[in-house]
This record gives sequence, C-alpha cells and structure tokens, in this order.
Amino acid sequence: MTTLEPSFGGAPPSGVRRPTRRVLIGHVPVGGGAPVCLQSMTSTPTRDIDATVAQIHRLAAAGCDVVRVAVPDPEDTAALPEILRQSPLPIVADVHFHYRRALEAVAAGVHKIRLNPGNISDRAQVNEVIRACRERGIPIRIGVNEGSVVERRDREVRAAEQIALAADRRGNLIALMVRKLEEYIRIFEAQDFHDVVLAAKSPDPVVVIEACRAISRRFDYPLHLGVTHAGPPETGRIRSIAALATLLAEGIGDTIRISYAADPEIEVRDGRELLCCLGLRARAEPELIACPTCGRIEVDLIPLVQKVRQKLADVRVPVKVAVMGCVVNGPGEAEGADVAVFAGRGRGVIYVQGRQVRTVDEPQMLDALHEEVVRLADRVQRGEATLSATAVNIRP
Ligand code: SF4
Repeated sequence: MTTLEPSFGGAPPSGVRRPTRRVLIGHVPVGGGAPVCLQSMTSTPTRDIDATVAQIHRLAAAGCDVVRVAVPDPEDTAALPEILRQSPLPIVADVHFHYRRALEAVAAGVHKIRLNPGNISDRAQVNEVIRACRERGIPIRIGVNEGSVVERRDREVRAAEQIALAADRRGNLIALMVRKLEEYIRIFEAQDFHDVVLAAKSPDPVVVIEACRAISRRFDYPLHLGVTHAGPPETGRIRSIAALATLLAEGIGDTIRISYAADPEIEVRDGRELLCCLGLRARAEPELIACPTCGRIEVDLIPLVQKVRQKLADVRVPVKVAVMGCVVNGPGEAEGADVAVFAGRGRGVIYVQGRQVRTVDEPQMLDALHEEVVRLADRVQRGEATLSATAVNIRP
C-alpha cells in the first residue's frame, strides 16, 4: 500500500465549486452547481412512525434539506410508505449488511439508498440493488467509513492492512479508504450505473480532508462530507467544522451532515450556520455578532448576549445585530451591523443602520434592542428598508 501525497494548498479561488455530476434526491438537486445540500439523520426507531415523522418535521423546520433513516429490520422498511407520505423532506434509507432492506426501501419509494458495499459480501446482491435503483431512478450513496474499511473476511489481507495502518495510520488509512472506494465505484460503473454520491468518513478530520481531496481529484461524482462519530457538540463541533469548512472553502463537497451524539436538530442548526458563514447559503434569521469582552467592559455582557440570541429566535429577517461592550472600540468593531448596542457604565446606546435612535439604562437594553430589531425587520418586510453590510456609518 502506498501513502497518498499530502495535498495541502492548491485550493481554487474562494467561491469556486469543483464541478461534479448532478443527482436528484427527490426534488433536491445535489452536485452540478446546486446549493450544498444539508442532511441529517433521525435518531428515533424508524418503525415508530409517529416519533420519526415528528422528528423529520422538526429537522425540516430547522433547515434540513434531506433526511436519512436507518432500516435495520423489516419492521423499519415496512414503516417507510407511511413515513414517506407524511414527510416534508426526501428520505434516504440507510442500509447495512442486508441487501433486502435496500430492495424493500426502494419498493417503498425512498428517494436515495445509502449503501456500504463492503458490508454486503455477495456482488450479485449489490447488483440487484443497483438494478432496482436504476428502474426507479434512485441514486445510491457509496460510502467508506474508517470503522469498517479494514478487510474482515480475508485474514491475510486483513493482517497486511493492519500492519500498514500500524506503520502510518493516517497516511495508509487515507490510501486504503480511497482504494476501497475506487473498488466499490468499479462495481457500479461495471453496471453502467453513475447515479451515485460518494463519501469517505472518519472521526479524524485530517483523514476526512485528505481522503475527500483525493476522491474529488479522481471522480466527478457528487461528494457527501461528514466527520463520523464526532462526539457531543461541545467537542464534535470543532472536529466537524475543521474538516467540513476546509473542504467547502476549497470548493469540495456537494452535501454535508454534521454528526453529533445529540439531538439531530443541533446538527442541522450548526450545518446551516456553517453554510451561511461560508456564503454557501443565504441567511434567513438574524446574525449576531458580539465583542469578546476585555478589561474595558462596563456591563455584564456575556449573559446579555445569550439573552439577545434567545430573544431573536423568532425574527425571520437576516438583520445583523451587534452587542458591544463599550463605546471606545465597539463602533469600529460593529461596522456592518444593522442594529447595534454599545454598552457602557450602566447604559446602552442603540444604533439602527448608522443612526443613533435611543439611549437606555442597562436593565432596558435587551427589550429596547429587540424592539429596534423587530421594527427594522418589519420595515424590511414591507419594502421600506433594505439590509446592507456596508451602509453603516456609526459615529457615537
Ligand atoms: S468592544 Fe470594547 S469592551 Fe468589547 S472587546 Fe472591544 S474594546 Fe473590549
């Protein structure tokens, strides 16, 4: 096994997406210049139709585009027709080991199958799934995962792969993942089936970055990005964003899922925020910026920022809101904000699009700021004001 050469650098200019084929997951296009698709996965037993449908609705409300459901048993695939009937989102069936679950899911009308060919030993069975998906026009995601990439059946091959990993875990793992994915792709291309999405996942962000770079250089199939088993949001957030932001900023990745050991709504909220931060999705809700606080601070700013964030949750206009701890550097640092409060010595000065509108005592700051945001949002919705990142000229 040879280690892949590191590929740091050589990223395309910001905003340029690497060209890929396009597939359709239900009504959602993926690849081929379509917006980066945001996915998540239900955590309910799929056979529990009410709980699964309720969670899918919550994920849709949080901004999810496509949702995946696990189908380990026939009871789960049996629930799919009713879940599909009630779901506002396209459904991907997640299949491991049992090719019959894939056939049942296709017959139920799912919009995509996620398959790990390494888990299905019989090639004829994989071909049967390919045939069924072709007949229905359903794409298949072919994934390799660090946890299952090492050979399980052939002892000699397994031993050789383990020795290689012991010698250079990251380098040889990346090479192994890419090689296995190439083998899987050949199975699909031998059937002249190209309606595929690729993925290579690992808990190690560096492995994900390098494997996805290598895959995107070799293939023009759409690429699904994710750091698997990233852990709880507190630690998994950095682990996930390190890989996904790096790749997306290089134009790599057509669909993403952030995976946490937590409620999947958090995955979707963080995924949306990532896409908005990178300019890959238009923001629909307020953007909050706040000073990091320093020795000049004269109010209890950190709890105020949290309260402002909670209070803005029901505003549906992307007003840029700044909460700053002083009038010394705050105004310069809040440049570009539509609504800003500069707090100091128990008082707050509020600006709306560069114009000072009121000064309030510290206990009234939260409500006053919220009122001004809502007032501006209403004016924007009535067409009486426009949001702008540059029309701010704050002179306190
Ligand atoms: S805005 Fe003022 S208080 Fe906040 S970090 Fe900047 S200088 Fe410090």
